[in-house]
Amino acid sequence: MENQQGGRTALVTGCSRGIGRAIALGLARDGFDMVVNDIERQRADLEALAEEIRAMGRDCQALIADVSDRAQVHAMVDTVIARSGKIDAIVNNAGILIASTVENLTDEQWDAVMDVNAKGTFLVTQAILPHMRARGYGRVVNIASIGGKVGSPEQAHYAASKAAVLAFTRVLAQEVGEFGITANCVCPGIIVTEMGRTNLADQANVDKWVAATALRRLGQPEDVVGPACFLASDASAFMTGQSLNVCGGIVLN
Ligand code: NAD
Repeated sequence: MENQQGGRTALVTGCSRGIGRAIALGLARDGFDMVVNDIERQRADLEALAEEIRAMGRDCQALIADVSDRAQVHAMVDTVIARSGKIDAIVNNAGILIASTVENLTDEQWDAVMDVNAKGTFLVTQAILPHMRARGYGRVVNIASIGGKVGSPEQAHYAASKAAVLAFTRVLAQEVGEFGITANCVCPGIIVTEMGRTNLADQANVDKWVAATALRRLGQPEDVVGPACFLASDASAFMTGQSLNVCGGIVLN
């Protein structure tokens, strides 16, 4: 796949660490010039990632923006278009998880999770769509979750936000297909990241999730890279409105 995507530009949101970081490096390996994004708190890690990508011989812009803030999202997209002229692929990866039972869930927790996971995906996609449509080409890859299909206790709001991403993607695919744009989801299972650790508080939880997989192991960020890069490439040209479970066989369909 080396340099298969030469001349193309991809944006990954929330990618200073975890799954997004692995995907950004994977896309750069495939030949994409990169735009990497995260929030101010993650600036140092984001800059370090950008340096790593530049050392691979790719162009890379590191842009701070909160994906749940319309003005910041548009400023980011305007900056990319002014410099690169285009974005061929976006990976909406930024996400948060705040564990709470439904009984204890506050309005603020519900809104925070919805704002980043669901609204952030909408805002970034909406800002970039006119540019993709004008060129008759685009790949939208949304990182949802098997939580959006099944869900676990203390994650009703997170599951709802990811179900929203899945539904958003199915409708988006129907709206933009005629413009050469595909929209698909990746649904990770339990991946060992800062967020993933929420599900892995103690050995009993680790054992439970390992036993739930057909492959008898937890996922690593690198496990999500192949499916995400596939959906960002022309190898998936006739796929749209779909979701790929990348969960070691927790969810089978
Ligand atoms: P992570 O917490 O390590 O990384 C999430 C990144 O998103 C962080 O760098 C964070 O700073 C960034 N972010 C948060 N809010 C943001 C905002 N408003 N704007 C821009 N960036 C923001 O988590 P991860 O496990 O790497 O998660 C990546 C994606 O994968 C998320 O969408 C998550 O819901 C999804 N996912 C993760 C798992 C898992 O088990 N780890 C499972 C299913 C889905």
